[in-house]
Amino acid sequence: MNRHIAVLGGGISGLSSAFHLSRRFPEALVTLIEQTNLGGWISSERVHVRDDHGHSADILLESGPRTLRPNAKSILELINLLGLQKSVITTPVTSSAAKNRYLHIHEIQGLVTLPNSLSSVLSPLMRTILLPHILRESVKRRNRLRGITDESVDSFLTRRFGPFFARTFGSALVHGIYAADSRELSIRAAFPSLWAMEDRGWGSVVRGGLLPSATPTREDYEVGDVADMMKDVSVYSFKGGMGMLTGAIATYLEQQPNIKILCDSPVIKCGVAENDLLELQLQSGQVIKPTHIVSALPLPVLQELLTPQSSVPHLNANPASSVEVINFIFPKTQPPFHPTGFGYLVPRPPTGYSESNSGILGTVFDSCALSAQDSDASNFTKMTVMMGGPNPLTPSHTDTATVLKHLSVHLTEPGEFLTVLPEPLYVRRVQHHNCIPTPTPGHLERMDELKTTLKKGAWAGRLEIIGAGVGVLV
Ligand SMILES: Cc1cc2nc3c(=O)[nH]c(=O)nc-3n(C[C@H](O)[C@H](O)[C@H](O)COP(=O)(O)OP(=O)(O)OC[C@H]3O[C@@H](n4cnc5c(N)ncnc54)[C@H](O)[C@@H]3O)c2cc1C
Repeated sequence: MNRHIAVLGGGISGLSSAFHLSRRFPEALVTLIEQTNLGGWISSERVHVRDDHGHSADILLESGPRTLRPNAKSILELINLLGLQKSVITTPVTSSAAKNRYLHIHEIQGLVTLPNSLSSVLSPLMRTILLPHILRESVKRRNRLRGITDESVDSFLTRRFGPFFARTFGSALVHGIYAADSRELSIRAAFPSLWAMEDRGWGSVVRGGLLPSATPTREDYEVGDVADMMKDVSVYSFKGGMGMLTGAIATYLEQQPNIKILCDSPVIKCGVAENDLLELQLQSGQVIKPTHIVSALPLPVLQELLTPQSSVPHLNANPASSVEVINFIFPKTQPPFHPTGFGYLVPRPPTGYSESNSGILGTVFDSCALSAQDSDASNFTKMTVMMGGPNPLTPSHTDTATVLKHLSVHLTEPGEFLTVLPEPLYVRRVQHHNCIPTPTPGHLERMDELKTTLKKGAWAGRLEIIGAGVGVLV
């Protein structure tokens, strides 16, 4: 009764939090406060293109996340509760867009196919670069130091599979999900299942992976028929892109009598006042006194807003990656200038991150997995290049001609003439500053300490901190 919950930040975390709070506490007032517009890093846009033969199309471009994995039940629940089933587009595990994922390894020309079946593990290339490390790991002795509770992804993979495996496969995976340096990312926070496999397999990740997991999974999500829809699905998105999800939550919230949405309203101060009441100050001068606060802000932003008496630990402990996203739309060529598949990742260069490298983290072949988003997929090819993260970037790295030159080299098979890419019909570049937090080793312990602090002291259980900086992406 008389509860007023303020949710700070209108990204997917803040939106879904406001959604669930309004359903769970219909008698409470929920105020969602966002500094600009709703959606956070999720941003989908349609652009109109025309080729030289008179074909035209509306093509959907994403500058943030583009696909989701069906293992996140919380999102399946949102799809069910918002009735978004008809808008979902899926990439089945059997499709070539799901099966074919590539690496561009600096030492090898062209793209190397990542194994998706036993027979592909046995391909000549994979037999020499992957299999020996995996086979050796299964018989290698337990080598985790006694008492160690976390380490970097690179250190974990180097211990078990050796430095070459850790640099090529490990760093590439981390580039694809976190746009970060695998030597800085916590294995337990980022890939908890790998850490658990090592324990389960008496020191061997491979052995542990073959044994069933005993970790219980939460089953109380209201996923309805969406769980069935997602059987045998590798990744999914929406016909109107990821923005459909945030848009549908926003539309729902706007219709609820117990929800108030304040956009273009940066919070500039947040804390517990001397009279023990919670207080939020907005840039507009408005002061809000909620009974509870849920912060879905980036952690360093919250750190800046908290008054000294209301401070909490570890909000500035992790760095965050910045990326440049370049969307390309090309006219379709015959034969296609890239193979079918999800796309490819580029590992950390053998000489480390330096300005002499391309700066490319990976490239997504969007037309393969997400062509259902476009009004005409038969005459156009869309691709997205992700750059930056730990790679230093200068304007000369990201100019169109330089990026296309690198793509040509990456897409050229050994012994073939250089792949010639057609002139792009549309190029869009978006710079994201500090967009993906990198949980460093010790993150889980730090978040436990943070949660313990919030339960007592000045906040006494009245502040909850959520969002990408707290949880994990996979
Ligand atoms: C390029 C890119 C690609 C990605 N790809 C994927 C993918 O394919 N799959 C996947 O699962 N994830 C992906 N991610 C990660 C995913 O986008 C994020 O984890 C997710 O969007 C984070 O949502 P959030 O609500 O926690 O934070 P945010 O989206 O950062 O939301 C925080 C909100 O707080 C607001 N805010 C900030 N300061 C204030 C203030 N003072 N007052 C009020 N409001 C404020 C911001 O404007 C923002 O709206 C990607 C991220 C990026 C950047």
